[in-house]
Amino acid sequence: MLIRRSDRRTRTRGLFEDAPPDGGLDRRTFLRRSGLTGGLAALGELSLGSVRKTAAGAPPPAGAAVTTRKSICTHCSVGCTVLAEVANDVWIGQEPAWDSPINRGSFCAKGAAVRELVSGERRLKYPMKIVSGRWTRISWEQAIGEIGDKLLDIREKSGPDSAYWLGSAKMTNEGAYLFRKFAALWGSNNVDHQARICHSTTVTGVANTWGYGAMTNSYNDIRNSKTILIWGGNPARAHPVSLQHILEGAELNRANLIVVDPRLTRTAAHATEYVRLRPGTDIPVFYGMMWHILQNGWEDKEFIAQRVYGFDEVRKEIQKWTPEEVERVSGVPGEQLKRVAQMFATQKPATLVWCMGVTQHSVGTANVRAASIALLLTGNVGGPGLGANIFRGHDNVQGATDCGVDVTSLPFYYGLTEAAWRHFGRVWQIDYGWLQSRFVSKQNMETPGIPISRWFDGVLLPRSQVDQKDNVRALWATGFGSNAIGRIPEAMKGMAKLDLLIVVDPHPTTWASLSVEAGRKDGTYLLPACTQFESSGSRVASNRSIQWGEQIVKPLFETKDDYEIIYLMAKKLGFADVLFKNIAVEGDRPVPEDILREINRAGWSTGYTGQSPERIKLHMANQKDFDLVSLRAAEGPCKGDYYGLPWPCWGKPELKHPGSANLYDTSLHVMDGGGTFRARFGVQYNGVNLLAEGSYSKGSDIKDGYPEFTYALLNKLGWD
Ligand code: SF4
Repeated sequence: MLIRRSDRRTRTRGLFEDAPPDGGLDRRTFLRRSGLTGGLAALGELSLGSVRKTAAGAPPPAGAAVTTRKSICTHCSVGCTVLAEVANDVWIGQEPAWDSPINRGSFCAKGAAVRELVSGERRLKYPMKIVSGRWTRISWEQAIGEIGDKLLDIREKSGPDSAYWLGSAKMTNEGAYLFRKFAALWGSNNVDHQARICHSTTVTGVANTWGYGAMTNSYNDIRNSKTILIWGGNPARAHPVSLQHILEGAELNRANLIVVDPRLTRTAAHATEYVRLRPGTDIPVFYGMMWHILQNGWEDKEFIAQRVYGFDEVRKEIQKWTPEEVERVSGVPGEQLKRVAQMFATQKPATLVWCMGVTQHSVGTANVRAASIALLLTGNVGGPGLGANIFRGHDNVQGATDCGVDVTSLPFYYGLTEAAWRHFGRVWQIDYGWLQSRFVSKQNMETPGIPISRWFDGVLLPRSQVDQKDNVRALWATGFGSNAIGRIPEAMKGMAKLDLLIVVDPHPTTWASLSVEAGRKDGTYLLPACTQFESSGSRVASNRSIQWGEQIVKPLFETKDDYEIIYLMAKKLGFADVLFKNIAVEGDRPVPEDILREINRAGWSTGYTGQSPERIKLHMANQKDFDLVSLRAAEGPCKGDYYGLPWPCWGKPELKHPGSANLYDTSLHVMDGGGTFRARFGVQYNGVNLLAEGSYSKGSDIKDGYPEFTYALLNKLGWD
């Protein structure tokens, strides 16, 4: 839902200027208040009576059995496997998995310290709320009861959109999917997560170019590249273990390693060519690179003729970006850019890696489109060693996005149309009329919610400028630090005005500390969630491989996992029986394997249908069988599969589709992981056929490109 803003303010002043005149925060104050310098402000408010002395537990008795359990590092999207040693239900040691084709016995410093997340002293141990400005310990029963009563009251008086559901890329697929379903049954599309800030621009940019909003290949596949162009990314810091694939591959292949970044980063220090550009000039530099490609005839003419629409329009735009103009705007010398262009276009396969340096701009989607055009121009999409290798951030940012924790869509990019709701009504076995009755109106049900980057506008703007029944009055934030969002001074004002703020996290996070600073005296709750190491479920690495994390230890202190918290809240709000109609609940904990089975029944659009819990667990147990470069199992019970069954993994699990290691690879049969571009704008425009004529995956029945598949089309073809 759009917020109408009649008084658009320009943001020309930095957030952290000294002594902002409007009472905002300077950098030093922000760090102090957000608990990043010396102890959490929130805990500073605790009375000493609630602090107890702690002591180390007894060591495991001599001869106690030490078991090894597998989970996935929660720090970044590379997806390194953690081998945890457990004795007496205590996590006593950890090793990187030698068998994992992703990390092969290595961790970075962040991964080496994940045990700290569980046993660290900053854990939130029990539910708390602010009473008259002080944090006070309460029970789970009291917390759920009070929060539920307040939410129901807000819903009745102001409508369901007055509660905002903020989910997380730290959730498992099952947690994220359940969270989106919960918001749908509550009756609102005000549900979002971190990808809005980091890679929603990527999803929009690449999905609208060739079909899917995801990294096309894998970290491992970069070993096949002859030219690796890293643009606006610093994997040496953000995705360290990926460097073992990039640097080893570059060395073995004698590949070109080009880094484009305003800063000489640690990654740039390894580059064979470092391009320093002025911040924010990515589009001119991309176009400048393409200018050299066209000028020298290095473009892939066959690829363009077959698979690109509107190229002449782009050519006109590119012609404006002469070397002189690009250097004037960006500072990049023409001769250097010509060298880079030549390598990227002619020393193939070439891959383009990008990250936050491309996406987190006011023109992020346009940056991504420019990157995609560069790949199309050079024919560098759809095979090994090529592609858009977009490094995601959090460990499950891809999965949480796929599972629809998103204001614009139901899970798996179905959108919010009536047809999409009817699809999920069928999957959930919920009557469409009942679903609709949960929303203010049908129109509201089919309208995107407020993006998380502007949640506080939903709180602060005059009622007439917020396009929903009433302002946002309650915010539920799971696994999301408030400092991830810009405009912090306004966010503080939004926090102060909320009737209800619920923070669900293993740590108090900046919501807790800043809400105290914002002057909240009551109506703020902290619910202690456990880490993913104390729960189980699947997560999607950046390359779309799905990996299952086992529970390493039971939730410590009084913490609970996301599934149980969602269940308790749904029970209190009165729709647990509908939410869990086809999902078993043991005690108060929904079974994640059952949630994944429901995901399999729902995810036909994206090929989330073949990755049953049994298949994914089999991959985790047989990691040694998967090839380091192709990610394919050459032997063993998973023979023929790609590691983690990267989506799309078509059909039901029994079909045994191997997953798709590299998207849009027409050299392979679909049943072998091949595929084509997906047209998303119909089949014809201005009298021109939009289908890729003569481009089809091996063994395909259709030989003139693929239209977007809908149920109606499948029905017409007799394939339903
Ligand atoms: Fe964890 Fe990422 Fe480091 Fe691997 S590279 S150990 S996933 S932080």
